[in-house]
Amino acid sequence: MASYASSSLVLFVAAAMVAAATVFVASPVAAHFPAGLPEPPFPNPWSAFQNLSGCHMGDERDGLARLKGYLSHFGYLPSAPSSSPFTDAFDADLEAAIATYQRNFGLDATGALDPSTVSQMVAPRCGVADVINGTSSMDRNSSSSHGRHLYTYFPGGPMWPPFRRDLTYALTATSATSIDRATLSAVFARAFARWSDATTLRFAEAAPGADADITIGFYAGDHGDGEGFDGPLGTLAHAFSPTDGRFHLDAAEAWTVGDSASSSSGAVDLESVAVHEIGHLLGLGHSSVQGSIMYPTIRTGTRKVELETDDVQGIQSLYGTNPDFKGVAPTSPSTSSRETDSSAAAYSRPVVSGFVGAVVAVGLLLLLPL
Ligand SMILES: [Zn+2]
Ligand SMILES: [Zn+2]
Repeated sequence: MASYASSSLVLFVAAAMVAAATVFVASPVAAHFPAGLPEPPFPNPWSAFQNLSGCHMGDERDGLARLKGYLSHFGYLPSAPSSSPFTDAFDADLEAAIATYQRNFGLDATGALDPSTVSQMVAPRCGVADVINGTSSMDRNSSSSHGRHLYTYFPGGPMWPPFRRDLTYALTATSATSIDRATLSAVFARAFARWSDATTLRFAEAAPGADADITIGFYAGDHGDGEGFDGPLGTLAHAFSPTDGRFHLDAAEAWTVGDSASSSSGAVDLESVAVHEIGHLLGLGHSSVQGSIMYPTIRTGTRKVELETDDVQGIQSLYGTNPDFKGVAPTSPSTSSRETDSSAAAYSRPVVSGFVGAVVAVGLLLLLPL
């Protein structure tokens, strides 16, 4: 009996070691987290939402008011009048807002705060709203005469006019980042080239001091446009619709450039976010296609800089096709599976309250005081 028991113990320990080893094999990079689980506790303005997992219609729970603020910021709920702030009651309006969010992100539209929905909500993202003026800009059932598509525009379809196909950009606020100027210039040049490769648009960095069509800057916290940044993660950046030209990045992010992106927890790849925000500057809204550049969230430690078919169709329908365009690069299976993970980080969102058509904040930064 004793030897049997000890053999069992040995077997159990061996099995546990195999299981532990399997976990390590499945997640070889320390900065990447198991699919479907919330990201670990480095600072994240939305991490308290994880306490709301399991909430559903009829519940009352501390923190639901703040979640309503989040959903309002990204366009899923109207903003609360100052005379009647959001409450912690899980009501029908919240259920409907969550269901719309779930449809936009390819989740089961249950209207309840299931773990996969909460995991998606806490992912870093663009500050631009997903739903603008009550219209779900990510409506998965949208279609056109060319068939079903998922790319979107800002309300009214603002774009750069036909006589403006050569656009200039300038790095106007870089004192809040430690990345050197030459590196920044190279990163943004590559990011703009992704879009000029596919279209008739051309971009050039403006000479120092010259006026530019597009201005790019790093800012911390409130910076004068009503879309203050929220520190590490949460909202990462935002940009405005044509022909505003403003593109703001959260200076508090652990921005990384190139291959260093996957090396540390909380690191956000600058070039990936830049390609996304430029899409907003040119008139694209958010897409429900998870592998697309215009998907609202991006996973930390992930590099995603190649336009996907949905991005290309969207931008070419606005600006035409570059005759030299070589087409969309095939997506590698590993990239696809990684980007399908719903715990990906999202960009910050820029839905600008009171915007008048022209302002399509794209990566909305969360302003929520979490
Ligand atoms: Zn801003
Ligand atoms: Zn965005």
